[in-house]
Amino acid sequence: MNDHHYTGLIEKYRDRLPVAESTKVISLNEGNTPLIELRNLPVKLGWNHQIFCKFEGLNPTGSFKDRGMTMAVTKAVESGAKAIICASTGNTSAAAAAYAARAGIKSFVLIPEGKIALGKLSQAMMHGATVIQIRGNFDDGMRLVQELSSTMPLNLVNSINPYRLQGQKTIAFEVVEALGDAPDYHVMPVGNAGNISAHWIGYSEAAGRQCGSCNLCNGECAFKGVVISTKRPTLVGYQASGAAPFLRNEMVDSPETVATAIRIGHPVSWDLAWAAQKESAGWFEECTDEEILHAQKVLAESEGIFCEPASAITVAGLIKDIERNRYKSGSRIVCTLTGHGLKDPDTAISQSEAPVVVEATRDEIGAIIERHL
Ligand SMILES: *Cc1c(COP(=O)(O)O)cnc(C)c1O
Repeated sequence: MNDHHYTGLIEKYRDRLPVAESTKVISLNEGNTPLIELRNLPVKLGWNHQIFCKFEGLNPTGSFKDRGMTMAVTKAVESGAKAIICASTGNTSAAAAAYAARAGIKSFVLIPEGKIALGKLSQAMMHGATVIQIRGNFDDGMRLVQELSSTMPLNLVNSINPYRLQGQKTIAFEVVEALGDAPDYHVMPVGNAGNISAHWIGYSEAAGRQCGSCNLCNGECAFKGVVISTKRPTLVGYQASGAAPFLRNEMVDSPETVATAIRIGHPVSWDLAWAAQKESAGWFEECTDEEILHAQKVLAESEGIFCEPASAITVAGLIKDIERNRYKSGSRIVCTLTGHGLKDPDTAISQSEAPVVVEATRDEIGAIIERHL
């Protein structure tokens, strides 16, 4: 095969990940996602910032979870595991199921009954995971998989597994390589808070700094000090108003939001995320479901980018915080669009105008076109 053929983020960043020469890599060629500059929205809204979207919806299973899952499953297989388990709001289960299939091991996924987007459920089912719907939310599932994995031969692949964050940190390397340096701000949704923590690990390493956040420091930390940036960005995390423990400064017991991927009230990476916010001099802010859905639609209509509701909270947050001058004028801002809009067709269809139905005649169709031209 051609040497330049891309074969996934572990091969690409081997020198900065906790893998050995002999490690058998489980990959679906994840990562290497496009960084798309917004052209129309900033003009329309009169923003004087340069804004890029890192479209993680274009990973193999349609979300950034693939970055962490390639590492977690690679390490699980290396350790001899025959089965993995996770709790999920949807995307983790899709990724776990796909990478387990690739590795030829079993996967078990716990999802909240009725609160998972259809696309994600179909993925877990198609890849052959044992899908267990629980009468409870993500936080209940998280507690249960921690219990189960400590007593049964199951490897836990939620982001409490430090290898997940190691895989996910590579997003920062890709952004730095694409822009030539770190951006001024990096903006993302916050649910279980693993991703914001992983971004901070990645940006810290890219700038040659050990952040102390990787949880692998006792001997296995992958930090090699490969310096590719001169600075670290300010991190901004957006939460849905009904599931905003970082805004309330305490855990939330019954989280609710249309953005099911971030419908989490007890984030596992609580301390790491606070450290990332403080060290980067960033902030957390909340957006309502209405603001999230509006942003999802605006982004899809004005830029041709279709992300899922949880991802669109980044744009909702920008709309709110740029208005209030919280971003320094003339900044370079990167948004992580965490998952693809096709994951959740129900939400998309319910907020769009239904297609008109007419007779199959030239006249009826022509009249509609004329009205819309
Ligand atoms: C998992 C997920 C998030 C939240 O990431 P955390 O690491 O849990 O904070 C956001 N958006 C999408 C689409 C996700 O799948």
